[in-house]
Amino acid sequence: MRRVWVVFLLLLFVSGGAQAQDTEIPDDSVHVRVVDCGTGLCCIVQIPGGEYLIIDAGSHSKENGIYEIISQVTQLIPQHETIDLLVLSHLHGDHNNALPYIFSKNSTYSLDTVLRTGLESINDLIDIDDYTDLLIEPDPGDVIRDNRVLPGHVFTFGENNDVKLTVVCGWDKFDEFTDDLSRTNDRENSSSIVVKLEYGDSSVLFAGDTLGYGGYDEETETDCEAAEEYMFTHCSALIESDVLIAGHHGSKSSSSESFIRCISPTYVIFSAGHNHRHPTQNAADRINGCGVPWENMFRTDWGDCEYPSRSTNECDYGRSYGDWPGDDHIDIWLRFDDEPIVLWDDEENHIRPEYP
Ligand SMILES: [Zn+2]
Repeated sequence: MRRVWVVFLLLLFVSGGAQAQDTEIPDDSVHVRVVDCGTGLCCIVQIPGGEYLIIDAGSHSKENGIYEIISQVTQLIPQHETIDLLVLSHLHGDHNNALPYIFSKNSTYSLDTVLRTGLESINDLIDIDDYTDLLIEPDPGDVIRDNRVLPGHVFTFGENNDVKLTVVCGWDKFDEFTDDLSRTNDRENSSSIVVKLEYGDSSVLFAGDTLGYGGYDEETETDCEAAEEYMFTHCSALIESDVLIAGHHGSKSSSSESFIRCISPTYVIFSAGHNHRHPTQNAADRINGCGVPWENMFRTDWGDCEYPSRSTNECDYGRSYGDWPGDDHIDIWLRFDDEPIVLWDDEENHIRPEYP
């Protein structure tokens, strides 16, 4: 299904008065929506020609997180369509507990391929095998379990095969990199599958819940560890991307300077909300210190901060009060011949605050 997407944005600059800027989104752009699902992550990808990807689909927000994911999936993916690829970065509930609802027995969606780590979790476990009666059985060759899909594997989409999704890293068992971390929960996070979506001149890196800010280590001469150290060491050229979906919701132990400098993102998006005080100020400061301006950092928890005190270590930028969760989706438009556009789904209602 081909759509015409043309949006004219009126960007208001607080300091310099109002300026109008026309920004055209060509009808062959790839659309990524980062769903405002509260504490969790769900990204829905629409590819011109009618292909669809889902990268994580879960939320721990009891208020409306799972509802919001289902609502967005059904708005962006027509009934009776096939979801060509479902990527489950790891098996924590905040990344996959909407799946039983999306693929319920009443669902008209079919599912082509699932990419998952196969690494089981000690908590929040959703074992997708429990839902095999709800899911089209995936091709086992396309599951990262048992290393059947290795970093570097490329899936292609689009009428001209010009939409590329590259597997960057992910583990099906703990290894030397995840062993940097002492807590099992952290190791599970850092085993996340990381993928990069590319379309012509535009790219997005989905970092899952990877961790890796460990402070400066004289032996390795970097400030990164775990998955971030793996990517910094093994695929620094590959991870360079225009947009970064920040690892582990912007936690304090993610987004090391070494890792961020390799990615060199223009925009950073935090999927966070109502729990854990993400994104943290120190992760956001590191990202800002790597050259990402505050106005290019987006957060899905706009307005739903549960800690009104400023002494919580939660990043202040983009935080406001009195708004409602579930209405701050972030849209990325990947343009083949140009840099991507990133904006709130409802720009009129979200004039970004000045910093500080
Ligand atoms: Zn998470």
